[in-house]
This record gives sequence, structure tokens and C-alpha cells, in this order.
Amino acid sequence: MKNDCLFCAIAGGEIPSNKVYEDELCYAFYDIAPQAPTHFLVIPKAHIASVAEVNGGNSAVVAHIFEVIARLCREKGLESYRVVSNIGEQAGQSVHHLHFHVLSGRDMTWPPG
Ligand code: IMP
Repeated sequence: MKNDCLFCAIAGGEIPSNKVYEDELCYAFYDIAPQAPTHFLVIPKAHIASVAEVNGGNSAVVAHIFEVIARLCREKGLESYRVVSNIGEQAGQSVHHLHFHVLSGRDMTWPPG
């Protein structure tokens, strides 16, 4: 856990969130500013700053998170959805704790803005 990290505090229960799912490795919660009818975030409990910090020593949690995303979407009956992770300021990353956005429930365009 990293001091002054919003998502570490959310995963640790120190800051309230609208929880979707939790296990020993990851935490999922609804985005506070949803960009689609369904918009939740899935994060590792251990602090990793972004995809750019994923390496051989910590990548197992990323595979686990993708399994969790697939299962949650199946359970919610979501057949079409987008999974996004922003890395760095220019790409729009505002919270520096690895997170995967899961968005669903509306038509989406490509390329993203
Ligand atoms: P990023 O901009 O890709 O880093 O995504 C960060 C996301 O976290 C944004 O979609 C925010 O709306 C969301 N967010 C920020 N603070 C909170 C919070 O306290 N609870 C839930 N979502 C949050």
C-alpha cells in the first residue's frame, strides 16, 4: 500500500466506494464519473502505478484481473464491452494506481478521443 494513493485507500476500505467485487488480489468498484451505463474499475490491491510498471514479478495479478473482468461481465450479462487502461498524462491517466476501466451499455466509436 502506498501512502497518499487514492486507489490504495479505496482497496483498503479507508475511502468508501461502490464495490462490485473483491478477492485477495483485486478490487472492483463503480467509477464515480461513469462514461457509460455500466462503468466500473478493476484494480490490483498491491500498488502498481500503471501498465508501464508491469513486469515478470507482478504480472500474475493482471492475468487474474482479466479473468475477473470476464467473469463479472458474464455474470452481469454484458456481451459487448470495452476494457481500457490509460498510461501517462497524454493518454488521460489521472490516478497513478493500475486500473482497468470496464465500459458497457452504449454504442462506442473507434478511435477513442
Ligand atoms: P484514469 O483517468 O484513466 O486514471 O481513470 C481514473 C478514474 O477514476 C476516472 O474515471 C475517475 O472518474 C475515477 N475516480 C476518481 N476518483 C474516484 C473515486 O473516489 N471513486 C470511484 N472512481 C473514481
